[in-house]
Amino acid sequence: MSLAELKEVAKAAGLPAFAGGQMAKWLYGKHVTSIDDMTDISKAGRERLKAGYAIGCMPSADSQRSIDGTVKYLFPTHSGKFVETVYIPDNDRATLCVSSQIGCKMNCLFCQTGKQGFEGNLTAADILNQIYSLPERDSLTNIVFMGQGEPMDNLDNVLRATEALTAPWGYAWSPKRITVSTVGLKSKLRRFIEESECHLAVSLHSPLHEQRAALMPAEKAMPAADIVELLRGYDFSHQRRLSFEYIVFGGLNDSPLHAREIVRLLKGLDCRVNLIRFHSIPGVDLHGADEARIEALRDYLTGHGIFTTIRASRGQDIYAACGLLSTARKDAGTQA
Ligand code: SF4
Repeated sequence: MSLAELKEVAKAAGLPAFAGGQMAKWLYGKHVTSIDDMTDISKAGRERLKAGYAIGCMPSADSQRSIDGTVKYLFPTHSGKFVETVYIPDNDRATLCVSSQIGCKMNCLFCQTGKQGFEGNLTAADILNQIYSLPERDSLTNIVFMGQGEPMDNLDNVLRATEALTAPWGYAWSPKRITVSTVGLKSKLRRFIEESECHLAVSLHSPLHEQRAALMPAEKAMPAADIVELLRGYDFSHQRRLSFEYIVFGGLNDSPLHAREIVRLLKGLDCRVNLIRFHSIPGVDLHGADEARIEALRDYLTGHGIFTTIRASRGQDIYAACGLLSTARKDAGTQA
């Protein structure tokens, strides 16, 4: 709940509105898991709150640890399903990759989550629970909305969650520590840019319309050219970072033509490109590119003024790497 909502709860429970601020402190500042722990709220007030509300967190039902230190958690949702969350420690950084939906509607060809189909939106509480309940919560330095689901397809709840993460009354994180990724949804992208200050990552994967549409059906509704056109209307030269994610498939999107077309598409835009190694998934005839091709692509883009990185692959042995998350076989009430 937001501060405004907590104030309404306070009023409805016969408490002064400022009790909403006290509740926010207990919830987001001190991480209490019982209303009884909110000791600066009167006992009678706490009893009235307990009659109508529950707080706390839902611990993970299972976890798997990779040899590289990455941990994949399986968190229950309020709808009785499960989602995966991946904790990625890396020297002095620790990134959490959170999910925004159970499954996904976008059906990207290369993605295991897409194969799962769509099973529902996460609530803002489900999204925050992936952070609240994380054993390594206090060591986190970054959060990326790059787990299961398309965040813009559940934008209300993603915005509620990111507001709680960044507001002074909430976790008070800098929005610069949070990145939300998207395939680019026409009706939602503009709203996200205008209502959130978090970093934005656009999944590009091909600069060619036909090919991107084959890889990502969302291209048909909002082509990459339209996404870039929209982004040109906003300033990403200062605090806010714009990046393009590019999974490099061997023999498919790793050619000099692709490199030239990426440069043409992104010309003049303040952005970076992250090249991602691909992990094969069953039943999909796509392969990772040779390291030399990935490096050649990086060097071409960098040489043409686009800051480009090659993303290290993490958690591959526990199916935690990009595109490999799926909870299709996890039914409510069962452990993974
Ligand atoms: S890559 Fe992202 S948007 Fe595409 S199907 Fe997978 S989870 Fe959905």
